[in-house]
Amino acid sequence: MFKIAVASGKGGTGKTFVSTNLYQTFIEYGINAVLTDCDAEEPNAASFFKTELIESKQVTQKVPQIDSSKCLFCGKCQDWCAYNAILIIKERGLSRVMEELCHGCGACSVACENGAITEKEMLLGEVINFSDNSGCKIVEGRLKVGVYTPVPVLKRAINSTYADLAIFDSPPGTSCPFIHTVNASDYVILVTEPTPFGLNDLKLSVEILQKMGRPFSVIINRAGLGNRVVHDYLKRENIELIMEIPFDKEIASAYSKGKLAVSGRPLLAAKFSSLARKLTDKIGGIAL
Ligand code: SF4
Ligand code: SF4
Repeated sequence: MFKIAVASGKGGTGKTFVSTNLYQTFIEYGINAVLTDCDAEEPNAASFFKTELIESKQVTQKVPQIDSSKCLFCGKCQDWCAYNAILIIKERGLSRVMEELCHGCGACSVACENGAITEKEMLLGEVINFSDNSGCKIVEGRLKVGVYTPVPVLKRAINSTYADLAIFDSPPGTSCPFIHTVNASDYVILVTEPTPFGLNDLKLSVEILQKMGRPFSVIINRAGLGNRVVHDYLKRENIELIMEIPFDKEIASAYSKGKLAVSGRPLLAAKFSSLARKLTDKIGGIAL
């Protein structure tokens, strides 16, 4: 399976727009592809397709619970926790686990020599599978409201993805969820907009991908709206500009109504076909 992440340094640049329309293009070529929505805090890729829910699996994590009748308030579990998820105050007889900060590493259970710590399952979210008769398959990671980190849920969504080609709609930003998504990918497309803000976030993403050694190229969305700062930067840094999407009110309106922009727009469909061909040339083994 070849995995392409569509990412951006900030939200609102058109990452999901690119993921969904690129996915539709691959499906129309008859490619066995899956679209995985890794934006677990706010997944919406499935809403662009007429799919049915096939199955939903809960994602849980083990979190510790402290039996205060056995706790000696020695503080060892707190010292071993790298995520500051345990608070022990001996003077007050207080031992508390902050479940929302816990990463489920199990270190505190190992640290406690008094048998005061046991583990329970905590619900983090779910991984949902959608599909239809035309070959469309979507995997969605969805975080439970109030859960602090989407990483375990998006990891499970990625691990539930099976096809010849996978497109990951990455979470926005450049923090842990982005790193985990691009780390699981073979190739990354960064989506940006031609403005100083777009350039700033693009630079952060590029720096990370270069450090990780991930191959990538850039799409400029809403081209013509801003200035040439992003074009100049890409030229200077010798970074491939793989596609430009011109700003078009009609496209923006269709997107806001949950419609795929490639449907009924031959010029845009041709642009996405060209993008799909460039990507398959990079991948090898998949012919359009
Ligand atoms: S290591 Fe065990 S005994 Fe010590 S404070 Fe933690 S739970 Fe209590
Ligand atoms: S399981 Fe790991 S992260 Fe969670 S409270 Fe224990 S040591 Fe901290």
